Amino acid sequence: MGFTKLGLSEETLEGVRAMGYVDPTPIQLRGIPLVLAGRDMIGSAQTGTGKTAAFALPILSKLGAHAPGPRALILEPTRELAAQVDTFFRDYARFTGMKVTVVYGGVGYGRQNDELRAGADVVVATPGRLLDHLEKGTLRLDKVQFLVLDEADRMLDMGFLPDVRRIVERCPRQRHTSLFSATIPPQIETLIQWAMHNPETIEIGARRTPAETVKHVIYPVSDSQKTDLLLELLKRVNYNSVLIFCRTKHGADRVAGLLKRANHAVAVLHSNRTQNEREHALRGFRDGRFEVLVATDIAARGLDIAAVSHVINYDVPQHPEDYIHRIGRTGRAEHTGDAFTIMVAEEASHVYAIERFISQKIPRVKLENFDYTYTALFEESKPGQPQGFPGKVRGVRVHGGYHFGPARRRR
Ligand code: AMP
Repeated sequence: MGFTKLGLSEETLEGVRAMGYVDPTPIQLRGIPLVLAGRDMIGSAQTGTGKTAAFALPILSKLGAHAPGPRALILEPTRELAAQVDTFFRDYARFTGMKVTVVYGGVGYGRQNDELRAGADVVVATPGRLLDHLEKGTLRLDKVQFLVLDEADRMLDMGFLPDVRRIVERCPRQRHTSLFSATIPPQIETLIQWAMHNPETIEIGARRTPAETVKHVIYPVSDSQKTDLLLELLKRVNYNSVLIFCRTKHGADRVAGLLKRANHAVAVLHSNRTQNEREHALRGFRDGRFEVLVATDIAARGLDIAAVSHVINYDVPQHPEDYIHRIGRTGRAEHTGDAFTIMVAEEASHVYAIERFISQKIPRVKLENFDYTYTALFEESKPGQPQGFPGKVRGVRVHGGYHFGPARRRR
């Protein structure tokens, strides 16, 4: 079923058509009628499910004509997400005459003040800067009819919940509230009880299987050869754009420096970079000026970057869900992609956790003609063992005193 029967306004539908969307995603199919009917909604859904349009389209439909005072407020945990949601909102609003603006920290107040003064129907914001504007009197929330708390669990992780509460207190009690969160820990449950009225929950199961358009493999290697292997992979692979994930900001900087010295066009994205640097990195990566983007999980979570041909995990993600998020950055929108995970011996347990999570064994591969100091071979599961679970792991000594860890047998 297309979008036409959902009850959206004609101007909003025109925006949807211009985006090239044909069918609503599951969260849109269920969420749009709910918001149009005036119900509070809890979306237990992750980025990538189409949740932005699930709240943006019905809000735009219900706002009607341009009017003074922001009437919709969308709270986002990070500047990047705020910028991304702002862009989508503007796209969806193109034919509605609604004014959309974004406020976040790390940049000057000038443009934000101007846009707020000119009158915005929709404000997308991060909590800290929004509170600054409230205190300065450059923004009021007394006309807000629609409040969206996006990525609530991340706001919690980042310590923003007290700020969120202060902001919600400044909004009228009579309003529609939507909340999105991949998980609902007790603190979010409390927020729901306090901030929402008889909400309906839409659960879109967390993705546990990698997209079929992504081919993913593991490259076991010793710690001392990680960077050599990375450089060699980049040399051999025919890529358009590569996203490299590192566990730490320091690691990301180090890898980026290394790649720059090897003459790659590289940008870095992590939370210690200034806002300008972060925007420059993302823009450059999206428009192809940078062929490689090195990022941390936190910085890259939720970002919609199309046309990534390769994802390389320089470090194995420590949380299995992050693996799905990371490799989901490629193979999007019908494109195919490759995801490589570089693994050292100490990370084997993280790989097992990932394999249990996705119920699949990820193939181990050796880079042909790479001068391995050590090789590590992984045996396939034995018959009778749970499908898709790694079986015995054995270290194979080539030269030097390497041990990949004791042979492990599962009963
Ligand atoms: P989101 O989960 O809101 O971050 O959306 C993820 C991606 O899905 C974005 O690139 C959207 O443009 C895209 N998208 C959202 N809804 C649809 C749809 N109904 N059909 C095709 N693409 C969509």
